[in-house]
Amino acid sequence: MAGCHIIIIGGGIGGLCCGLHLLHAGYQVSLYEKCPQVGGVIQSIPSAPGYADYDSFASIGIHPYAYRQIFTDIGLHWQDYFSEIHLDELYRVFYEDGSSFTFKKNEISYKYDFEAFYNESFSDYNTFINQFYQKYLTAYALILSQPLTHIKDMMTPHKLSALIKLNPLTSASCAIKRRFTSPKLRDFLLFQSYYMGYPTSQISQLYATIPACTQALGLTHIKGGMGAYVKALQKAFIDCKGQLYCNAPIERILTDHDKAYSILTTSGQMKKADIVISNADYHFTITKLLNRSARLHKPLLSFQMTCSVFMLRLTLSISLPMLSTHNIYLVQDMENTFSAVGSGTMPLKFPMYIYYPSYIDDTFNVNGSTTLNIMVRVPNLSFNASYWSPLTIERMRCICLKHLADLLEINSIAPYIIHESMSTPRDLQQKFNCYQGAAFGLAPSILQSAWLRPQPICPFVTNLYFTGTSIHPGNGISIVMEGAKTVSNLIQSSYPLNLKK
Ligand SMILES: Cc1cc2nc3c(=O)[nH]c(=O)nc-3n(C[C@H](O)[C@H](O)[C@H](O)COP(=O)(O)OP(=O)(O)OC[C@H]3O[C@@H](n4cnc5c(N)ncnc54)[C@H](O)[C@@H]3O)c2cc1C
Repeated sequence: MAGCHIIIIGGGIGGLCCGLHLLHAGYQVSLYEKCPQVGGVIQSIPSAPGYADYDSFASIGIHPYAYRQIFTDIGLHWQDYFSEIHLDELYRVFYEDGSSFTFKKNEISYKYDFEAFYNESFSDYNTFINQFYQKYLTAYALILSQPLTHIKDMMTPHKLSALIKLNPLTSASCAIKRRFTSPKLRDFLLFQSYYMGYPTSQISQLYATIPACTQALGLTHIKGGMGAYVKALQKAFIDCKGQLYCNAPIERILTDHDKAYSILTTSGQMKKADIVISNADYHFTITKLLNRSARLHKPLLSFQMTCSVFMLRLTLSISLPMLSTHNIYLVQDMENTFSAVGSGTMPLKFPMYIYYPSYIDDTFNVNGSTTLNIMVRVPNLSFNASYWSPLTIERMRCICLKHLADLLEINSIAPYIIHESMSTPRDLQQKFNCYQGAAFGLAPSILQSAWLRPQPICPFVTNLYFTGTSIHPGNGISIVMEGAKTVSNLIQSSYPLNLKK
């Protein structure tokens, strides 16, 4: 192709990264984002005037190399765009019985404390970390960095034998329970799997590679939070001469037979495109942007989505020395608590993830304040869409504040609140078009991950591609970035710039 205009719908991490790869490859890229700012679920949210913005949802920088890699891939120095802080403390885990344990990057430094606290062998823990980190590397080469568009691509003896060793059909809970007897350690190692709101007995053991990668690679914190990272990507996009349109919701992808030729904005403007990439939610893309009936797309009707979240963000006038950057509050019987959320029941107990960037990053401590996010998993909107009345929201808020005060061993947090902001599943649905308000897209059940997860190429519109959370290889910032690179590679091989198709 002599010149090729690519339109990207949605400026989440998937859309931005796809755009950057394609701009670097020489394509002309226009990105349309419905919100006033890009970033999707990792954009920042304002606090009171004069105080630091909040990170909106995502905050844990798993696979730190990925955040730098996108800049290196497109020939930029990441140091010119953002700075990172490596966390010595990975997670502080609080248990319902009042005990707590801090996992650190340097595992040797907590060997004896670990054995005393969990009554497990540290060498078994290390073996688990090494084995599952190796699994991650294999999964990365075999699955995460590849499109799975042609199943025959997997059918080489080398790949098949690697896949058998990987054993993705074993569940996360089975893999962890087989190795450790301590309920507290099991719960910690499974918490990322639990947090999808899906039974861990039905989630692949590949999810157990997340704590292994965290221990092996550490966690990164971007100075200024994920919001600062989005700004870095946006700046790179503009530096690379991408065209960015915010406040620009797209209503329709116009197709002629099996080819997309244009997009239609909600203000009625048509924009011609040689290739269209949708970073909007997959279900939304099919049913709204392409205006196709879900009934015609069998997997769409049977899709099971992850749970959603209730988020309370606070700007406080006190500092909280008992918290680290990433804190997890685990209750007894985590398995049933989260399975209940996955099947539509509001939690009676409240396991929480508390993000306290003020611990490590003084850009969150403006005018002597501190910043904190509390996240609670809740059912998605497929169960009870009318649940989120003002009364429910107030109830959730009060429970979060009470739990936080208990954890901090103070009477009440209310006197210290300078500003607060909340999000419910409805916000995810209305603001970002997330189907059923699901926080993490398609549920990562073994069946859905192996067979039903949509691939990046649209099967019925030749020049339409998908990128984002529900698309292969799946959800999580670093994983979505990997998927975006795959889409760019697919486009470059199908529509090389010097070859007219
Ligand atoms: C609560 C929560 C916590 C998380 N925590 C972590 C974490 O700690 N670490 C981690 O690695 N990952 C985390 N994740 C996952 C990670 O944030 C996501 O997988 C990733 O950011 C999704 O990026 P995306 O580009 O696929 O989608 P999105 O961020 O949803 O972006 C899609 C974009 O498309 C736009 N859009 C939709 N429809 C239209 C339209 N019609 N026209 C124009 N634009 C449109 C939306 O406004 C949005 O900006 C979390 C996610 C959530 C929700």
